[in-house]
Amino acid sequence: FQRIMSSSSAAITLSNGVKMPVIGLGTWQSSPAEVIAAVKASVKAGYRLIDTAAVYQNEEAIGTAIKELIEEGVVKREELFITTKAWTHELAPEKLEGGLRASLEKLQLEYVDLYLAHMPTAFNDDMSQHVASPVEDVWRQFDAVYKTGLAKSVGVSNWNNEQIGRALALGLTPIHNSQVELHLYFPQHEHVDFCKAHNISVTSYATLGSPGRVNFTLPTGQKLDWAPAPSDLEDKNVVALAEKNNKTPAQVLLRYALDRGLAIIPKSVNISRIEENFNVFDFTISQEEIAKLEESKISQRLFLQDFMAGHPEDAFANERK
Ligand code: NAP
Repeated sequence: FQRIMSSSSAAITLSNGVKMPVIGLGTWQSSPAEVIAAVKASVKAGYRLIDTAAVYQNEEAIGTAIKELIEEGVVKREELFITTKAWTHELAPEKLEGGLRASLEKLQLEYVDLYLAHMPTAFNDDMSQHVASPVEDVWRQFDAVYKTGLAKSVGVSNWNNEQIGRALALGLTPIHNSQVELHLYFPQHEHVDFCKAHNISVTSYATLGSPGRVNFTLPTGQKLDWAPAPSDLEDKNVVALAEKNNKTPAQVLLRYALDRGLAIIPKSVNISRIEENFNVFDFTISQEEIAKLEESKISQRLFLQDFMAGHPEDAFANERK
């Protein structure tokens, strides 16, 4: 069964020829202690992509786990695909290369495979004040870091189509990947079509509907306000399709994104779920089944990234009430 045999090598070829694995381990809200075990279990289960970010505060632990996996002979560096993201203060003028070097030092790596602008908005170091640096300036910095070779590919996250269009219009390094919230109840068809037309690969975050988001606590101890939202995992058509295929609702939601040609980065710190989320290569979801899953027509963004409100590059200004 070739699909099962080739699960670790299932990849999307980016516009620069780099191969990006279709499944990665998400690590938002994974504490340093949890993430070491999660990264090790994921690589042993066949994952080759790890998704982190400077703001997740776990790059150092992920670096430790990668180093140990390589020393143990489980995997080679060149078989891994490490994604990290520049937080908003690193997008300010002249800050990006320093931000990337700081992440590389924590990760104990010489390069990352993908470096993303976590947001389109630049802020001061303490996020006290935004920096009115347009996305064009942000992308000029990404073009420069790509040319250093410290990042094998570069991309954006939480940018809207118009912002991506302005960056592309500069005619510099293309955007290789767009990482956005995308799940059954926020299917993002317009964004996916736009990216396809511009040869930009798309990574879905919150593919399971991010059920753990409500537990998120800022370093200040503050919790965020999350609007009530229906649960993707409990969707009746998802549950029915899971039963039909002898799979779990999570596996159906992951396959839904994969069968739309997207990459996924489900997060878990639970070893059996890490394995479950990778065990999706023995079934597929047809176009008709995708249409049936989408019949509810629900489209509700969970991650409005409220801190962007008021910034001239707020990507979701049109969606705020
Ligand atoms: P997600 O992957 O949709 O959901 C993760 C949650 O689901 C966790 O609470 C996890 O709990 C639980 N879970 C995992 N596998 C499960 C399964 N098989 N069955 C039931 N529950 C399961 O949400 P996410 O973490 O928000 O998004 C995924 C990744 O995308 C993040 O970790 C991060 O790397 C990235 N991301 C990026 C951005 C961005 O702005 N670019 C924003 C959000 C997320 P346990 O850990 O307890 O298993």
